[in-house]
Amino acid sequence: MSDTDPAAAWSGGRFGALAECVLADNAGPITLDGTNTWILRAPDSEDSVVIDPGPLETAHLERVAERAGHVTAVLLTHGHLDHSEGARAFADRVGCGVRALDPTHQYGSEGLGDGDVIGLGDHEVRVVGTPGHTSDSLSFWVPSDGAILTGDTVLGRGTTVVAHPDGALGAYLDSLDRLHALAAEHEAVEIWPGHGPVIADALAALDYYLAHRKQRLEQVAAALPQIPEDTPAEELPRAVVERVYADVDRVLWGAAEMSVRAQIAYLQAR
Ligand SMILES: [Zn+2]
Repeated sequence: MSDTDPAAAWSGGRFGALAECVLADNAGPITLDGTNTWILRAPDSEDSVVIDPGPLETAHLERVAERAGHVTAVLLTHGHLDHSEGARAFADRVGCGVRALDPTHQYGSEGLGDGDVIGLGDHEVRVVGTPGHTSDSLSFWVPSDGAILTGDTVLGRGTTVVAHPDGALGAYLDSLDRLHALAAEHEAVEIWPGHGPVIADALAALDYYLAHRKQRLEQVAAALPQIPEDTPAEELPRAVVERVYADVDRVLWGAAEMSVRAQIAYLQAR
């Protein structure tokens, strides 16, 4: 069993019967400890898939290639560079394609989308469409390990960004509901996130995410009438951030502003 204390240092490792997480060397305020690159491989098989090769860093890609055996496909949770930048170089190196929802990130013939099933020996990986963080966000359900790979839809620590205007809050809340229903159908589901440590209790994490989003939305709705009416529209999100995200480190205010734009769009559409 792996260490799932969220306060503990995170360095990847082996999870379940199928997974190994190799941590990329790109730690930062948004990427947390760095991007998690996931290798999934059946215990009795040489064949693997690699999810999110991460940034274009040769040493990281080499480390992943060394550990991955025979890679049949690279899969992307979404197109953000910290997940996708190294994908083509890695695919070239191991001789496979890149499968993603967004055609601009596909490499080779096959796309990837909700309902797709990827075989791994006697095991399977099921693709779950989870738009919201971005419009092209996918999660991957691994039934035999009772785990959901969530990319940036759910992180191992803290909460994520709705990357407005590509990301959208309504879609994001629907995706959290969808993952919640999936986790509720099964027992003891883990989350294997795109950044930060593995989460042992998916349902508790999703409950927290849903409650947090609802709380922020109420705070934004409450803050909007307090902002002077002559504030130019383009300065409105920043003014909301200063009121609602005062408790958050300023290095994250740019990301918070994207989420606030998404929240204002959501409130205006209601
Ligand atoms: Zn990311």
